[in-house]
Amino acid sequence: LLDALIDQIALALERLRLTEDLAATQLASETERLRAALLNSVSHDLRTPLVTIIGAAGHLVEGDLPAAARRDLAENIRDEGERLDRYVQNLLDMTRLGHGALKPRLVALDVAELIGGARARMKGVLRDHRLRVELAPDLPLASADAVLMEQVLVNILDNAAKYAPEGSEIVLQAVQRGGMIDISVTDQGPGIPEADLTRVFGMFYRVAGGDRQRAGTGLGLAICKGLVEAMGGAIRAEAGAPDGSGTRIVVSLPMDAPGRVA
Ligand code: ADP
Repeated sequence: LLDALIDQIALALERLRLTEDLAATQLASETERLRAALLNSVSHDLRTPLVTIIGAAGHLVEGDLPAAARRDLAENIRDEGERLDRYVQNLLDMTRLGHGALKPRLVALDVAELIGGARARMKGVLRDHRLRVELAPDLPLASADAVLMEQVLVNILDNAAKYAPEGSEIVLQAVQRGGMIDISVTDQGPGIPEADLTRVFGMFYRVAGGDRQRAGTGLGLAICKGLVEAMGGAIRAEAGAPDGSGTRIVVSLPMDAPGRVA
């Protein structure tokens, strides 16, 4: 009986070892997939804006151009430089999130100020859209890290401007809902298929058959999720309108102290 028991235990241990090996192999191949995706993304997404910057700078240096053309080129350089800056910031945030090294500095945050800051930073990107800001009156202060939240809003606004047609309206809204403050960005773009509404927050995930012409890394929303959750908040995607069209991204932040008004 004892021998049979020992045999069974040995067999169970062997099975366990095989399962562990399998899990380790799966983990290794997932890590490898992420590493390859990151490398591909970094090399492609750093090069795209750089090529534009180098090209525009070349025209400026060589050509005896009219003032309007020079201005266009300078604007190109500025816009693409800002895009690079956002991208590098995302990579830094991602690295810090991955190491658990990201420590949000939670303060009592005035959402109106936050929105003003993000709006100013995205002025160039939002040039071809109509931005409407709707702030509920007497909005309480939120508990969040001002710098990280601006990065989150910048990423979401960048997507809205990227995917929604020129001239369409983007609505930035903030309302109180229970003990939370919901900040949302709604656009009139192609929307996100229902099956992808949670997947778009995954690292390097881009909607299949989406507009591949648009430069993108599939990192923006994953970083937003990491940052928002590190601040004790939540983020979700939904349709932008009752008929299912457009996209709305909602960030819910805890209120700083119930009853305190900005
Ligand atoms: P990307 O750099 O590809 O924009 P994100 O992580 O920011 O990466 O978004 C992931 C994917 O979610 C995008 O590739 C796109 O398919 C989809 N998506 C995000 N925001 C929007 C939006 N406002 N409208 C339509 N699709 C969107």
